[in-house]
Order: sequence, then structure tokens, then C-alpha cells
Amino acid sequence: MAGKMKVADDCSYKTFSVCESAADSSSTRVEEDGESDGPAVFMCGKCKLPIGDSLSWAGSDDEQNQIMLKRITDNVFIGKEPFVSGTRKELGCLVVNLTCRGCCSELGIMYISTPKKLDYKRSLFCFNVENIER
Ligand SMILES: [Zn+2]
Repeated sequence: MAGKMKVADDCSYKTFSVCESAADSSSTRVEEDGESDGPAVFMCGKCKLPIGDSLSWAGSDDEQNQIMLKRITDNVFIGKEPFVSGTRKELGCLVVNLTCRGCCSELGIMYISTPKKLDYKRSLFCFNVENIER
């Protein structure tokens, strides 16, 4: 019986050392979490292709429910034919459509020509928040 108990003691020591190494790996995990806190990737809301990241963040427009990026990935197709934006607030803007190459869904627009008050949006890629995912 006594011999068996010694074996049990050995086991508990082993368990303790396993616990120590587990603590080590959990601290590594915290570092990984820190990395994932870095740039956020924006994806197509339908097919999840990456369309850009937060490193190219240029701002957002809460009223229009848009986010603006300076750069986008090749997954976004920039329309070739500009048209006049139809919404009342953006009257007089010349825009092109931004569509997803993966699923052809409309993601947003890019302003080619803007009235002065919307100058800050010109040449930026504006995505509809409801069409993308973060
Ligand atoms: Zn898509």
C-alpha cells in the first residue's frame, strides 16, 4: 500500500511540472492576442474575401454608414464607368461602383469628383458598413 502511495506522489509532482509549462504557454497566448489586436481586416460581407485593412483607414461617415479606406486589395473591382451619385446628400458627386470580385456584390463607391464640402472623400474608397465585415 505504502509503495502505491509513493507512486501517487510521483504522479502529483509530474502533474505540477505540467502545470508550470501550461502556464508558460498561456503567457505566449497572451502575446498572440496582442498581435491580433493589430490591423483589422475588412472583408466582403458575403464571401469573406479581404478587401482592405485598418492600416489604410481614412475615416468614417456615420450618417452615410460608410467607412473610408485609402487602399484596397485586388479583390475589389473598381467600376470603369463613372455615374452621378443618386443620393440627395451627395448630389453632384461623380462616383464609380466598388464590387467584390468573389461574389459580385456591391460593396461601396469611390468618389471621382465631389463638391467642395465632400472633398475629403475624393479618391477614397467608401464602403457601406452593412456590406462588409470586420
Ligand atoms: Zn464577396
